[in-house]
Amino acid sequence: MHNPTTPSDDLRSSEQESLLAIRNFSGTYPKQIWSLFMVEMWERFCFYGMRGMLMVFMVTQLGLGDGSANLQYGSIQSFVYAFTFVGGLLADRFLGFRKSLLWGSILMCIGGILMGMDPVNNFYLGICFNIIGSGFFKPNISTMVGQLYHENDSRRDAGFSLFYAGINIGAFLGGTIMILVAKNVSWSAAFYLVAVAMCLSLLVFLVTKNTFGPIGLSPLRHLPKIPRLSRETFIYAVSLLSILPVWLMITDTRYTDLFMTIIGPLTLVYLVWEMRSLGRAENLRLGAAMIFILFSVVFWAFFEQSGGSLSQFALYNLQGQGFFGFSMDANAANNSANAFFVIVLAPVLGMLWVWLSKRNAEPNSTLKFALAFGMLGLAFLAFYANRYFANNQGMASLEIFVLAYLIISVGELCLSPIGLSLMTKLSPLRMQGLIMGMWFLASAYGQYVAGLLGAGMSLSDEGNNSVQDKLIAYTDGYLQLGIYALGAAVLLALLNRPVKQMMQGIH
Ligand code: GLN
Repeated sequence: MHNPTTPSDDLRSSEQESLLAIRNFSGTYPKQIWSLFMVEMWERFCFYGMRGMLMVFMVTQLGLGDGSANLQYGSIQSFVYAFTFVGGLLADRFLGFRKSLLWGSILMCIGGILMGMDPVNNFYLGICFNIIGSGFFKPNISTMVGQLYHENDSRRDAGFSLFYAGINIGAFLGGTIMILVAKNVSWSAAFYLVAVAMCLSLLVFLVTKNTFGPIGLSPLRHLPKIPRLSRETFIYAVSLLSILPVWLMITDTRYTDLFMTIIGPLTLVYLVWEMRSLGRAENLRLGAAMIFILFSVVFWAFFEQSGGSLSQFALYNLQGQGFFGFSMDANAANNSANAFFVIVLAPVLGMLWVWLSKRNAEPNSTLKFALAFGMLGLAFLAFYANRYFANNQGMASLEIFVLAYLIISVGELCLSPIGLSLMTKLSPLRMQGLIMGMWFLASAYGQYVAGLLGAGMSLSDEGNNSVQDKLIAYTDGYLQLGIYALGAAVLLALLNRPVKQMMQGIH
């Protein structure tokens, strides 16, 4: 059987030695993780900075109506995650993780520069560079984290929790700083900031890349130079050419529906095709990975209400409400509370897993997922319960709202970093990029379904409804989501045994 995370036959003996030296680290974290932490932090600074600006830019600068801005926002977000699937696949087959990361960073730098030069006219072009760039970047950096560990190293989840804290430091800073620069300096300066931050990310990677031994090297590196270069150049050229179709798809969102309908089933067909050449144990593990991926679609669909219906709830039912006597903008709280709690709680959870594992009491991954859904359910029940803290005008409590974000963030930490870690454990070495891409493709579907759920909630809210009516409509929706999430938690707990068997010794 092909062992997923131990040195593979493709590696020369000197490469095997340096890989073992990396993986036999002492202490809680391998030192290379700090480099990946910084590289990903700057990339997420750009991603969440852009995410926080998109809506405002499209409405105030491009003159789009609320409806079409929402649709285009959803479409862009879905594509960013959907392209990670392609990026992961190409890394496995042609580029390796390092070259993919470099190419992705360069594309995103170009995207930032184009938008900085002329925000209004270059907006969609710049976004396309970012979509494709992040497709090459995002899954592959996560896979590299997993490769720092031996297969059964119990410190892996703690490593992913740390990496996840880096993601959220970037998200917190980018989300706050970029919109402030856009509003107080200029949109052009904010977009140039994307390029500057991506250059920093690139720089950290270039300076530290030699500490990774053979991790992330090209799978084609043993080929003669000419065929290797021609294949790589082909990939770079095709990725540049794909900018045009991506442009068409984000500007006409009907294509997004079509794309989302096709890409998921196609991915599954491809996976089944690949599975033919694997052994039984590997296929069982991949089956388990698919179960986790499927549940993650549901998790993100609920969780991503944060960018949609919850931000509307903050706008209508929380604006102007104090936070323990202090004044706080409800939308700012909505945008930053999650990242803040993840930064604070990630090390705590990371240490908790290590502490529990030393006592042989660490819950396995399925139970962590069940816990995540339990928290998600409780958080949505708290969002629902906010109606009982509302005043006569339908204005609810910001404290309860933030408390719900605290609970949802614990849930996210039980699922998202664990899921990343799992994907690297459950897939054979040559398919790690693909499977990580599928994990993020689930996020693309999550974003997509989140929009549909949010639209469903606000549909009952059309017409001349009062603040009180809106309160009831949104919280009714949250009650339902809460109940479904708790149901999923129970289902996962029941699935624990069969999934454990499918995982074949992986926890
Ligand atoms: N917040 C995490 C990130 O940006 C996870 C996002 C996701 O998978 N939907 O990396």
